[in-house]
Amino acid sequence: MHTAPAAGVSVQGKSAATAGAVPPLALLWDDLQTTLPATFGDENYAAWLAPLKVQAVTADSLTLAAPTTFIAQWVRGNYLTQLEEQLSSQAGRPVAIELQVVPTFAVSASAPQSIQAAVMSPTAPEAAAPEWLSGSRLDARYGFHQFVTGKSNQFAFTAAQSVAEALTQGKVAYNPFFLHGGVGLGKTHLMQAIGHAVLESGKPTNVLYLSAEQFLYKFIRALKDKNTLGFKELFRSVDVLMIDDLQFIAGKDATQEEFFHTFNTLIQAGKQVVLTADRSPHELPNIEERLKSRLGSGLTVEVHAPEEETRLAILQSKAESMGYTVPAEVLQLLAAQIASNVRELEGALNRLVAYARLTGEALTPDLARDQLRDLFRVYNRVITIDDIQQKVATQFNIRVSDMHSPRRAREVARPRQVAMYLAKQLTSRSYPDIGRAFGGRDHTTVIHACETIVALLPRDAQLAEQVQLVTRTLQGR
Ligand code: ADP
Ligand code: MG
Repeated sequence: MHTAPAAGVSVQGKSAATAGAVPPLALLWDDLQTTLPATFGDENYAAWLAPLKVQAVTADSLTLAAPTTFIAQWVRGNYLTQLEEQLSSQAGRPVAIELQVVPTFAVSASAPQSIQAAVMSPTAPEAAAPEWLSGSRLDARYGFHQFVTGKSNQFAFTAAQSVAEALTQGKVAYNPFFLHGGVGLGKTHLMQAIGHAVLESGKPTNVLYLSAEQFLYKFIRALKDKNTLGFKELFRSVDVLMIDDLQFIAGKDATQEEFFHTFNTLIQAGKQVVLTADRSPHELPNIEERLKSRLGSGLTVEVHAPEEETRLAILQSKAESMGYTVPAEVLQLLAAQIASNVRELEGALNRLVAYARLTGEALTPDLARDQLRDLFRVYNRVITIDDIQQKVATQFNIRVSDMHSPRRAREVARPRQVAMYLAKQLTSRSYPDIGRAFGGRDHTTVIHACETIVALLPRDAQLAEQVQLVTRTLQGR
């Protein structure tokens, strides 16, 4: 595994514990991710543990969200005791882990809050270990040569490679380099591939990779410890700064401001900045205009969902790297059924291979259908904006044409917002695309609709139930 020099070495729980500062559970869980693959095996890790996301934290319990019931049950039955032991030993006190089933799209919305809660919680330690000001390890599997290209991602791949190539020659190509696109389409992979290429070139380069959540956490932490100088120095001493999932700092004003300063300083000093987000800079909500325009001032590239052919090629390459012969029909079945997200695709393959290895059963399309029933049901039908408009209109008793009409009366406006929200959640279409499908509305209207519904759902039980009903119908569950 490659680690970034100096600044890029991640903290292991032990060292933080001996320094007397036990970090919040969410962060310990994050740290644990670097050792779990070795403990349980790469494939098991990827199949069962990697999909778990922190959902909530208290002083002595961690709730993890699993994307499907199947995964939750499997983890409970096979890994939970060991996970609790490991986390407890990191934390230095007994910690309970709970599992909750949360369909994938709901997880990302709640993750940042839980991290924030962890940071703010009164039980959070007072003193910072200096190692906290460090980045994450790069994942050894995320190199350029492990990335399979096709029409959907060719441009992003080539651009990332040229950024890396320039860096190895001591130059800066596009600054910032901004990658955006839906969940699980390879943004983190490409970003880290740049890091690997730079480190492998042997040039003494300080590469710092971290998620925007970690940036936020470190910043809040530095404020608490009155160590903002150390924080600033760390970030300003890097040659390549990579921040993943930038959307998480949207709306967090102080953090955003600090990021903006760091960003400007680095760009002005001719240091490479690489960023990813789930949407393009100008679509990021709650980010200041001046920051948006700076973010978009380098090269901005979208990673699209792979076509079936590329999905198949990805599966072939993954199967090969797992050293397991998976029949072509099985790979074809997966590529055809799981359309929107490479992470899901990879997870499905991992699950199947893990199952076949464990039970000794032959991997056949029937076994795949049987084992992946939960996944296939969701993906069986590609959900379109048309479907969503129709189902929402039925549910809320309005006409489908109201989805496109300029009428703003509440009784049509609210369902329309729901439909826009679902279009964002359940399809891989961009905000501008969705706007066009709703009578040529502007992308800002769509963003506003999504934010409105996200804000309403926790407060309006009736609306939440309606949204859930429509979602279920759409997913054929
Ligand atoms: P994102 O950051 O866009 O959510 P990731 O980079 O984490 O997505 O990708 C999810 C998983 O899918 C990773 O394991 C990654 O290696 C894999 N993956 C995505 N795209 C490709 C690709 N084109 N070739 C090979 N693996 C890919
Ligand atoms: Mg990512």
